[in-house]
Amino acid sequence: MNLHELTIHEAQDLLKTKEISAVELTRAVLDRIQAVEPLVDAYITVTEALALKQAAAADKIIGQNTARALTGIPIAVKDLICTRGVATTCASKILENFIPPYDATVMKKLTAAGAVMTGKVNMDEFAMGSSTENSGIKITKNPWDRSRVPGGSSGGSAAAVAANMCLGALGSDTGGSIRQPASHCGVVGVKPTYGRVSRFGLVAFASSLDQIGPLARDVTDAAILMQTISGHDAKDSTSIDTPVPDFRAALTGEVKGLKIGIPEQYHALEGISPDVLSSVKKAMDFYRDAGAELVDVSLPHSQYAVAAYYLIAPAEASSNLARYDGVKYGARDTGAASLIDMYKNTRSAGFGPEVQRRILLGTYALSAGYYDAYYKKASQIRTLIKKDFETAFSACDILLSPVTPTPAFNIGENIDDPLTMYLSDIFTLSANLAGIPGLSVPCGFSNEGLPVGLQLMGNYFEETTILNAAYAFEQATDFHCRRPQL
Ligand code: GLN
Repeated sequence: MNLHELTIHEAQDLLKTKEISAVELTRAVLDRIQAVEPLVDAYITVTEALALKQAAAADKIIGQNTARALTGIPIAVKDLICTRGVATTCASKILENFIPPYDATVMKKLTAAGAVMTGKVNMDEFAMGSSTENSGIKITKNPWDRSRVPGGSSGGSAAAVAANMCLGALGSDTGGSIRQPASHCGVVGVKPTYGRVSRFGLVAFASSLDQIGPLARDVTDAAILMQTISGHDAKDSTSIDTPVPDFRAALTGEVKGLKIGIPEQYHALEGISPDVLSSVKKAMDFYRDAGAELVDVSLPHSQYAVAAYYLIAPAEASSNLARYDGVKYGARDTGAASLIDMYKNTRSAGFGPEVQRRILLGTYALSAGYYDAYYKKASQIRTLIKKDFETAFSACDILLSPVTPTPAFNIGENIDDPLTMYLSDIFTLSANLAGIPGLSVPCGFSNEGLPVGLQLMGNYFEETTILNAAYAFEQATDFHCRRPQL
């Protein structure tokens, strides 16, 4: 087997027994990046010299038998997580030259665990999108079919994991941006409970919804990454001080007696592709056969989730993005005659069309005359959606649904139709509005050979329950073992 194809846990074992070195492993991944990056366009920055330096340091640590959780493991990082000394662009022209003077908390944790950073990966600009087509830098291709999108906004992370251009990656999920690309690229993606992982150093899109999480080749790897990045952080006032469980130890594969809720609204939706429905149905059969109990539940307010999300997220974004004014960060128009013109020109040239659309929508929704009609109403609906989940979780342990209505669509297919694009988030947005954890695990392939994901959502801080349920499914199937031909 080629070293770049290893899972994190396989690589850990080989590093520990010194059958391979961290430098060999990192070199193999860097060679793989060089070979397939022109086909996939997953990376914005490859940090080759840094990676080799970190790998050499890892080999020393392994030599002294003091290896930590991720010592010598090559990981890619979404380009909106601040990395000290390494450009963090958010795939935006406005931050093209921004080099953070500090590390995000998750980066500190990765480094402390001994990880090797292979580079920063592509995304929709400021994480706004579902296809990575909104990147201001390049369009990432789906490694399974390069005429298709990898999903978004963490499309670079998902494509890099699927194409073996790293062993695992970090992404961020504001309305589905980890789960949706994971589903489209045939990898595992986890959105933790809001507050489980520190957002310090994550460039803010919609602060009350954003969460960092892992993308990985299997559930065990996702659990290993979760272990490293989770935990309370005094630097993030929304971080929650609650014990971090042993995520990997929770993977027993036992689902007997587990109560799995099937949300009626998610399965009855019009327009779900038959390929998605049949894969999800087979997953339901698996759980029933394994001794889990399937129960019907209702999420009556889910029909309003897309509308509520697309008011709340742009409202928060319009406020968060006010800081890019040409004065404090990144690009600045130097030809303007006045300060106001400098602001205008910098923002007009620096932000792409989708980001500008969101800023306009958000500013409008928050303006004095419209606040009650839009932002307040959306916030009220958010509370009702949260209550729907509370009611559902009084009758079941986890919820099962599709991740997306269709497998990966063609590049260019939805880009001029923002509403269709927004609807592709219909199954994922509610978890962010409520703050509950959710994941995507590979559950099949379409007739055209495109990966299909299964979404499992859990109650607050019940990541172990959904990870274990996903693990049980993974043990019984081989979807996660298949890799795209490149
Ligand atoms: N697709 C959604 C949006 O465009 C979610 C993005 C995300 O989770 N970052 O807002």
